[in-house]
Amino acid sequence: MAKNNGTTVPTNFIKKIIDDDLKTNKWEGRVQTRFPPEPNGYLHIGHAKSICLNFGLAKEYKGLCNLRFDDTNPSKEETEYVDSIMEDVHWLGFDWEDRCFYASDYFDKLYDYAVQLIKMGKAYVCDLTADEVHATRGTLTELGKESPYRNRSVEENLNLFERMRAGEFEEGAKTLRSKIDMAAGNLNMRDPVIYRILKTDHHRTGNKWCIYPMYDFTHCLSDSLEKITHSVCTLEFEDHRPLYDWYLDQLGVYHPQQIEFARLNLSYTLMSKRKLLELVEKKIVSGWDDPRMPTISGLRRRGYTPESIRDFSERIGVAKKDSVVDYALLEYCIREDLNKHAQRAMAVIRPLKVIIDNYPDSQFEEIEAINNPEDLSMGTRKVPFSKVLYIEKDDFMLEPPKKYYRLAPGREVRLRYAYYIKCTDFVKDDKGEITEIHCTYDPTTRGGSSPDGRKVQGTIHWVSAFHAVDAEVRIFEQLFNVENPGEGDYSQFLNPNSLEIVQAKLEPSLKEAAPGSRWQFERAGYFCVDTLDSKPGKPVFNRTVTLKDTWAKLIKKV
Ligand code: ATP
Ligand code: MG
Repeated sequence: MAKNNGTTVPTNFIKKIIDDDLKTNKWEGRVQTRFPPEPNGYLHIGHAKSICLNFGLAKEYKGLCNLRFDDTNPSKEETEYVDSIMEDVHWLGFDWEDRCFYASDYFDKLYDYAVQLIKMGKAYVCDLTADEVHATRGTLTELGKESPYRNRSVEENLNLFERMRAGEFEEGAKTLRSKIDMAAGNLNMRDPVIYRILKTDHHRTGNKWCIYPMYDFTHCLSDSLEKITHSVCTLEFEDHRPLYDWYLDQLGVYHPQQIEFARLNLSYTLMSKRKLLELVEKKIVSGWDDPRMPTISGLRRRGYTPESIRDFSERIGVAKKDSVVDYALLEYCIREDLNKHAQRAMAVIRPLKVIIDNYPDSQFEEIEAINNPEDLSMGTRKVPFSKVLYIEKDDFMLEPPKKYYRLAPGREVRLRYAYYIKCTDFVKDDKGEITEIHCTYDPTTRGGSSPDGRKVQGTIHWVSAFHAVDAEVRIFEQLFNVENPGEGDYSQFLNPNSLEIVQAKLEPSLKEAAPGSRWQFERAGYFCVDTLDSKPGKPVFNRTVTLKDTWAKLIKKV
């Protein structure tokens, strides 16, 4: 919905605010948003929501959206994170054009703003340690205590602040604090720190600075400097808004409108960068892009498409109240997309050998298979068929229960696109495990139906043993086995079965499948070729998501 001309209804409360602002010409018709990540980790699906929202609003209202790195904490920030964030935003389908900014680009201006506050008597250099500042801050029921340094003269403050910048004091020895109100009901207003001493090099400014501005001071002023109209952020910043208002009003600068929305929480998933970093550092996962991670890079490697993530962001909407979104919705979105676009193929995940005794030994034939029944324009391909095949272990049972429609001694099933086969015998090893089964085929049933009208209830997929491509397939489950792993110590909720590696047999057309390409393995799920570990002619597949039972009758749980 572009502009509300009275015929359309805005689909979320933020659009309603923008529509009203456009009507009153509050920002001279401008819409300018930003996505402001701190480069201290890789982006996750929660950030994707914020990206889709901010860039999405700009697109919809023909406005602009900036990318801004909020890089005020040099000890946790790295260029690797900056690069990954850019890659992820682009991959999601958004573009900041020439508007990639860094809060660190504003350090000189921010320093000047701080000096201005000192000159106005609105900021002072404080010698209390971090612990002392914390201890004198008070609580919700207890007033804060004024710092003994609160009433230093402007001259003294200017002198000390200048010397802080020059590196004369040790880390933690002094801070610059705003002079607001130690009795304020909102704790954020109790003389919060504006600058602290940190003798750490910055990933962009090197050793130029040994004092760094705090996030709250930097964030609102960066928005102001960039002339942001609607500063969209998550709910936890609602209590910071009065402080932002205070800084902007005291300094008399451009004042964006802040709008808070509920952050995304997803079941079975951790969404804190700090905890995700721990998973990486403790090697619980293989890296930020482990396909089990909720990071954008993990989801990409898992086989998610940008379209599916944008669709997910749209479906979850924007609310004012926190809630937890069911992981199944994310899976629904990728299935919808892949069902339309992924080419089908046959792959046997847990192979069992089938020998067709009445099929000529050296014969093989090519069977035509449809690439995507949802999109016939994707055409057909030829799949080789021969005497020895693989089928799924699961598709054979010695003593089948009721409603099991697949193969069993004496039973007949259809091989997808090929022939009816009937099980005549089986071979067990000394452990009692079935190692191969023997069948006969009915040559008159080529294509999957019988001229005599005989019906079979089950259809199973297969791969010709001689032609099969061996491939590693990685089957993922949730990393955690509880819905809210973030509550309490997550390490006790780790799912020991979150990664299973199997050696599968694939139809030969998959041999040269391109890294990153996405497939539906018939009846088994959606899979994509791993971009890191695949080699030419030796693809490694990741299971993106299971299939919704499209052949429900056949794969019904027994
Ligand atoms: P941390 O995990 O350290 O709290 P963060 O997730 O807030 O950090 P930022 O880099 O500050 O990380 O986030 C960038 C932007 O993404 C912010 O505007 C933030 O509000 C938004 N964001 C972060 N997490 C979510 C989430 N779960 N849902 C929606 N937006 C989010
Ligand atoms: Mg944050």
